[in-house]
Amino acid sequence: MEKYADVSRPHLLPVLDAEARQAAELYPLHLPAAWARRIDWHNPQDPLYRQVIPSAEELRSVEGFVDDPLQEAEARRAPGLLQKYQGRVLLQVSSQCAIHCRFCFRRHETYAEQPSRPEEWTPALEWIAADPSIHEVVLSGGDPLMLAEASLRLLVERLAAIPHLRRLRIHSRVPVVSPQRLSTALLQAITAHRLTPVLVIHCNHPAELDPTVLEGLARLLRAGVLLLSQSVLLKGINDDADVLAALFETLANHRVLPYYLHLLDPVAGTAHFQVESAQALALLQQLRARLPGYAVPKLVREQAGHPAKTPVEG
Ligand code: SF4
Repeated sequence: MEKYADVSRPHLLPVLDAEARQAAELYPLHLPAAWARRIDWHNPQDPLYRQVIPSAEELRSVEGFVDDPLQEAEARRAPGLLQKYQGRVLLQVSSQCAIHCRFCFRRHETYAEQPSRPEEWTPALEWIAADPSIHEVVLSGGDPLMLAEASLRLLVERLAAIPHLRRLRIHSRVPVVSPQRLSTALLQAITAHRLTPVLVIHCNHPAELDPTVLEGLARLLRAGVLLLSQSVLLKGINDDADVLAALFETLANHRVLPYYLHLLDPVAGTAHFQVESAQALALLQQLRARLPGYAVPKLVREQAGHPAKTPVEG
């Protein structure tokens, strides 16, 4: 069983000053041991360190950065069910994550109405079953692959029984941050049904893709899962053409197609990660000049109430 680190782990405490500990009280420090082992603890600029270790900058209040910039509460249709876009819905099936990313757009989400037992999904499933225009369900969270394998399997079987559904999409950081969770039972839970399984991994830096992660991705591919990736453009972590090119090329080499590169959502406590759209566009132009088209993701921002993600184009 994978062990998780938190602020009670003494070996992490020396890296946190008083303000960083305050930030960790607002949004707890949480990372899997596999990620902790890959961090260069002597280098606060290490990209794996910066993504997960709280900092004093999170306490700064910055105009325009708010708790729920995407106004997800407006899109809620039933407990755990959001509909933002036509033809697909998002089912939040777990409030847990394998890791707490400091820039997370749901870092202020309380998951107050989150179903915790399988029978509590019934209202959401009935809502989906009543709308034949829905062809795809996106499992999200938290992280859907933190759900117990048996619960995940049961949920997917119930979704597969809804005749108008065609695809099951899963958004997860587990294959990258905690690949040990990809058990045979978990792979079966996401593939042993009639829906087309699509897994969108969240990955921001090539240093995240170590041999264990790549082996897990290969197992998912062998199991018949379509693999895509999404990344967040993060100041001081991946706002560099060499880093991004290495990330997307490594993903493409391992048959994971880069799908989205997101501009940061303006969430309170994350302004220090923001990359301006002009710089993002300049990076995109460099990537287009260096990589084949299929290895360059779409640069997008999400805006509350819009019918799709908004492409950032120059
Ligand atoms: S894994 Fe995803 S949902 Fe969880 S903290 Fe990171 S960005 Fe947020």
